Amino acid sequence: MFCQREGKNCGVMAGQGGAWNRALPRVGESGSLVHRMEVLASSESVGKRLCRSCGGALGRPILDLGIQPLANNLPRPEDLASGRPEPCFPLRLAVCPACWLMQITEVVPPVELFGNYLYFSSFSDAMLRHARAAAGRLMANERLGAGSFLVEVASNDGYLLRNFVEAGVPCLGIEPASNVAEVAVKRGIPTLNEFFGLALARRLASEGRRADVVLGNNVFAHAPDTNDFVAGLGALLKPGGVAVLEFPYGCELVEQLEFDTIYHEHVFYFTLSALLPLFARHGMEVTDVERMAIHGGSLRLSAAHAGTRAVMPSVAGLLDEERGKGVCGAGYYEAFAERVGKLREALLGLLREIQGRGQSIAAYGASAKGSTLLNFYGLGRGGMDCIEFVADRSTAKQGRLTPGTHLPIVGPEALRERKPDYTLLLTWNFAEEILGQQAAYRAAGGRFIVPLPVVRVV
Ligand SMILES: [Zn+2]
Repeated sequence: MFCQREGKNCGVMAGQGGAWNRALPRVGESGSLVHRMEVLASSESVGKRLCRSCGGALGRPILDLGIQPLANNLPRPEDLASGRPEPCFPLRLAVCPACWLMQITEVVPPVELFGNYLYFSSFSDAMLRHARAAAGRLMANERLGAGSFLVEVASNDGYLLRNFVEAGVPCLGIEPASNVAEVAVKRGIPTLNEFFGLALARRLASEGRRADVVLGNNVFAHAPDTNDFVAGLGALLKPGGVAVLEFPYGCELVEQLEFDTIYHEHVFYFTLSALLPLFARHGMEVTDVERMAIHGGSLRLSAAHAGTRAVMPSVAGLLDEERGKGVCGAGYYEAFAERVGKLREALLGLLREIQGRGQSIAAYGASAKGSTLLNFYGLGRGGMDCIEFVADRSTAKQGRLTPGTHLPIVGPEALRERKPDYTLLLTWNFAEEILGQQAAYRAAGGRFIVPLPVVRVV
């Protein structure tokens, strides 16, 4: 199946059958379908792209994941039957040789990404616990009370803000996906259905609604106009107020081979080194950083108007660590694609071996990262068709198909009922929780395959 250029749009459209390579070409293999797609999609030269932070010319991509469908756009079987095409876009990661910010080279219009967003955070127990603990700590540290005002950007279904509502702290959620914002409002969480940026921040400020605290969990790296986002934080915060942002840490991507955290919604892969000039450009500074285990290794970063809050030693500490690794140099990023290619060969080899023994394989977690992995590895209908189904707890996803690879999504009870010999764990970031929930499947002989940073069977 070939992708075709779609007028002036930066993307390409894939028809029925998936957007990826059937022949499982190796990374960079010349003559592969991936390579031909790249040619089709190359009218906007990657070499001419500019860094979305500093405006300098981006270097060559450090990883090319081919043409991929939108990772959170899960088609229904009837969508495929009607022949409606799946939107697909090139997925490549590049690094800016001036400010060392890792970013994808093609940004998809937000309206394509958030039209019908199926991710409801409240479905993960680990995430709810993480949110409750974080809210409690923040209320204590910032002494938040009835006279404070807290804003959360990309507040999803209100899973975090409900902790502040329950504690009587005035708050406001900003959520661009209308169906998700609706759920929050129904739950009694004040929510604006809008995109965050400087314009909205100025409007709130002009209404006298400047914030003591602005929170952003897994949204900062998703906002393509990162200068507008940071300027918006500055405009929304009261003097002395603090923005607390959580996002996957770029060093984990490179060092732990978390290539599947790359998808079109996720524009940036931040290191502290790359963030300092971005905040400085808008009169702000990073005042604290903390590394966290969630989502395969994240950073929680605090930022404020420059000179208004104490800068913690953690900032210089992490910066030193990054300098020691060479984060601000090309060498750090060089062998990334080759290491990811080897990881792919290792998993495909294991799956072929299992198939050769006549044993069955399923997958767990119809997540965005699962979509990137399945499409890049060519695992699904029309490719290496060895996975029978994908189990997922989210009822909104059940009955749909995985993007591009078109594997049926079913409830997690399918593992116990259909007893696949092996289950590929696509949501490896929740491994502990899922292995616990699936104790009965494992006790009955089912094995999980964790795909990275090294392929292992548990
Ligand atoms: Zn740059």
